[in-house]
Amino acid sequence: PSLHRQRHQFVIDFVRKNKPKQVADLGCGECKLLKQLKFHRNIELLVGVDTNGAKIKKMMHGLAPLSTDYLQPTYDQLRVELYQGSVTQRDARLRRFDLVTSIELIEHLTLTDLERFASVVFGYMSPASVIVSTPNSEFNALLPGLTGFRHSDHKFEWNRSEFRSWALKVCLDYGYEVEFTGVGEAPQDQQESIGFCSQIGVFHRLQGNDHCNALHGSDVEEVFSYILVYSVNY
Ligand code: SAM
Repeated sequence: PSLHRQRHQFVIDFVRKNKPKQVADLGCGECKLLKQLKFHRNIELLVGVDTNGAKIKKMMHGLAPLSTDYLQPTYDQLRVELYQGSVTQRDARLRRFDLVTSIELIEHLTLTDLERFASVVFGYMSPASVIVSTPNSEFNALLPGLTGFRHSDHKFEWNRSEFRSWALKVCLDYGYEVEFTGVGEAPQDQQESIGFCSQIGVFHRLQGNDHCNALHGSDVEEVFSYILVYSVNY
């Protein structure tokens, strides 16, 4: 399977295992991951956010229920919402989800926006789990004909130690713990020295992270900065 599919499969495996009820995909693009997630019966609220409204709108109708979804009603309810909005801005409708995913998004942010991302996602949205994937620059040597970054819009590509330092700082600042993994394996003899093609951090919110920069209850003003572009109830 393509690397793209492997990253999405990683999220799907996580969802199968952990059964989150509310899931938000940040930088959802053409909603490919959301379309796969809508088949998971444990999910009650599925939200996509992207700055690129045109990109969302192009493919969003694939999220509508199929006629068979109505012919075979189940007791499970699903609501899907798509927003045009930026991960650098807060929106109260995305607080306290079970799972937030950010697949190949952070490398498109400037370092200033990356700080805002951490404060919005970990500090404000404050979900139970966060999955962040980003290219591992150490793997670039194995990609034929690549000079520079993998994509012209990337603002940075990190090696494993750079990703690790960022992730550990986020954990300290906002009260999370993180495990590192990835998808896209290097040839066996180079797995240790190079690592995965896409590196992934799986973050879990710590119990009682009140001492950290996480925002709580009454400190939080209700801000709605995202624009709802699509919603559907199953
Ligand atoms: N996550 C998708 C996937 O796995 O295929 C798309 C990844 S694509 C490389 C990055 C996406 O992030 C684009 O759709 C882009 O519009 C979106 N994006 C970039 N900056 C963003 C921001 N500040 N807030 C929300 N989305 C953003």
